Amino acid sequence: MDVVDPSTGERVESYTEHTQSEIEAALDRANAAFEDWRLRPVREREELLAAAGEVLRENKRKYAETMTREMGKPLSQAIAEVEKCAWGCDHYAEHASAYLEPEGHPSPPGAAVETVYEPLGPVLAVMPWNFPFWQVFRFAAPSLTAGNVGLLKHASNVPGCSMAIEEVFREAGYPEGVFQSLLVPSEFVDEILADERVRAATLTGSGPAGRAVASTAGEHLKKTVLELGGSDPFIVLDDADISAAAETGAWARNQNGGQSCIAAKRFIVHTDVYQAFLDRFTEVVSSLTVGDPVDEETDVGPQARQDLLESLHEQVEASVEAGARVVTGGEPLDRQGAYYPPTILADVPEGCPADSEETFGPVAAVYEVPDETTAIEKANDTEFGLGASIWTEDRERGERLARQIDAGNVYVNQLVKSDPRVPFGGVKESGYGRELSNAGIMEFVNRKTVWVE
Ligand code: NDP
Repeated sequence: MDVVDPSTGERVESYTEHTQSEIEAALDRANAAFEDWRLRPVREREELLAAAGEVLRENKRKYAETMTREMGKPLSQAIAEVEKCAWGCDHYAEHASAYLEPEGHPSPPGAAVETVYEPLGPVLAVMPWNFPFWQVFRFAAPSLTAGNVGLLKHASNVPGCSMAIEEVFREAGYPEGVFQSLLVPSEFVDEILADERVRAATLTGSGPAGRAVASTAGEHLKKTVLELGGSDPFIVLDDADISAAAETGAWARNQNGGQSCIAAKRFIVHTDVYQAFLDRFTEVVSSLTVGDPVDEETDVGPQARQDLLESLHEQVEASVEAGARVVTGGEPLDRQGAYYPPTILADVPEGCPADSEETFGPVAAVYEVPDETTAIEKANDTEFGLGASIWTEDRERGERLARQIDAGNVYVNQLVKSDPRVPFGGVKESGYGRELSNAGIMEFVNRKTVWVE
């Protein structure tokens, strides 16, 4: 597995893929580890998770540098990602016991009935490169603490991150086999998932990858959680704070090089404030610094891979051909590395790629709508249903409209984010299941009813 630094296009490292027999041994180890791990008191598992949080904090610069080298995220954002993972560990280290507390039920006289939450076993996590640490910890912190063991198949362009995450758990003192990284290409996933030692799977990534995993899991009747793409609307109403909306919107679209499932992608703006918003939004977006991800001044680094940049540019070109107008950006930068500038498209016609597909890079589509009803219709006119952001000075109006959006997460006067304390996930083609909070820890447990007379 070659690591190509996207800021230069140069191969900087190579990892050897695991062989069939190494995978076999890893599955055996996972199974053996589970038998002991499942019996440990939750408190012990919480303590180990807290230690993992410490390992992350102590080594945050080293892990951040690995991320930046492999997928081009600006170093400051990579450091923030490691810190967020540590926060995720702290959260479950503190709350897992309470989340897993047995639940009593009304029962006939003389009987005691409760639901207890037991782990399922080895869970396969197929993870993407865009938040190479956070996506993994979002799964691992709750699931391991519930007593499952983890098998990570990370994206092929971030093998160093994959091995570094295994190191975090090892350094924290986790028993051998509780968390293992498998360096394998996606062609191996079917066989691993079909193996009877693997009990469930979670995937974050594209629709096609999600469908492939769900289909194999379905064939073998294994539980899955899917966190797929999004084309999140960012609705700016006539009574919004335009400056705050424009500034937050610029960040919501362009952080992490725009490569986020919950990035704001379609900016749906009330006609009364359309021009004012577009002017301020353009001003902020154009002022973002694109450059070397190691440089502290950089807001937007390179795209994670050259092929991803090319697909993004094809979407922009096809949208412009269909009638969209480039307000800023729109052409790859003429320099070494996979650099694409923050781009704004206005007058975006219905059905063009920027309108109907997920744009996984710094490209914003802006729409003008006459009223809030049309804004909601436009927001829901997508196959995706991950997040949405609504901007209005009237909190009641924001809350009322939030109920009308088909999405897993709606934020009013805030960008969409994932936070360990609250459930995160999507509807429609954005997937199913929830991560984080009590909802996330409940995904990979056997909710066992125990009736005692
Ligand atoms: P993929 O969805 O292809 O990759 C995500 C993960 O799934 C990787 O580990 C990948 O492995 C694996 N995978 C891919 N195909 C299969 C399969 N058939 N069976 C099992 N596992 C599979 O994303 P890409 O990197 O190709 O990015 C393409 C697009 O996906 C982006 O432009 C974006 O739209 C979307 N995406 C969404 C993400 C999100 O956060 N929701 C994250 C990343 C991408 P391998 O790397 O070995 O192929």
